[in-house]
Amino acid sequence: MKTCRLCQNSSDLRKSHIFPRSIYKGLKKDSGQLLNLSVDKPLEAKLSNSNPTEMLLCGECEQFLNRNYEGYGTRLLKDHQKFKKTPEGLIIKNFKFNKFYLYLISILWRASESTLHVFSNVELGSKFNEYFRCCILNRSTRLNTSLKLEHFCRISMVKLVDPSGDIPPEVMRKLLMYITKELGTSAQDPVLFYFVVDGFLIIYYLRIFDDIHEQRTEIIAAQLTNNHRVFVPKVDYRTFKFLNQAFEAINVYHEKK
Ligand SMILES: [Zn+2]
Repeated sequence: MKTCRLCQNSSDLRKSHIFPRSIYKGLKKDSGQLLNLSVDKPLEAKLSNSNPTEMLLCGECEQFLNRNYEGYGTRLLKDHQKFKKTPEGLIIKNFKFNKFYLYLISILWRASESTLHVFSNVELGSKFNEYFRCCILNRSTRLNTSLKLEHFCRISMVKLVDPSGDIPPEVMRKLLMYITKELGTSAQDPVLFYFVVDGFLIIYYLRIFDDIHEQRTEIIAAQLTNNHRVFVPKVDYRTFKFLNQAFEAINVYHEKK
């Protein structure tokens, strides 16, 4: 018997997936393979079907996550053919902010709770871990009467494209890149975590302000907001240095084969 990280009850723990299993299923079905990129520098592509697990959660909490977040979250990421397309991006209608936001939060939280090497760069600290845990469990992002989790951890989502046409959309969708961290130069700078799945780049943006008004009102590019209709812009993947490195590493991998 060990302590479940979510409900904190003593229980028999399951081998919990840090990334929901459903994310991998789709990838394998479409591509027959999955490219993982190691977090170690220099970036190196590894062909892998591995799906890291760790004893973190009890069976009830596994089901709780599945029922409340993973069905909707995975469907949204996988079924983007259904979204309205514009030249600039995708429009998601009937967007369920709480469900999708907490789905993404639950992935970052599990990575932070994990002691596996592949997630060693994700360490949110005990205070954030506890905020995340409570919000996931309460199915609410409310921290108190005036503050919500999204005031501290904003999440952006963009659709990655390659205008040069070198990387076809189906190859882009094949990439699963685990969470990468980017630190600013000062303590006031945000801490960013990225992950790439199904051709989307997810950016977690954690920032602490001294001023509560700033804390509540900052808006970042491509931020997921609590609206029924959300716009996900297309962004040239070459905008992001680490994605340049990632695709270079994949090319090197294919040339070696
Ligand atoms: Zn539990």
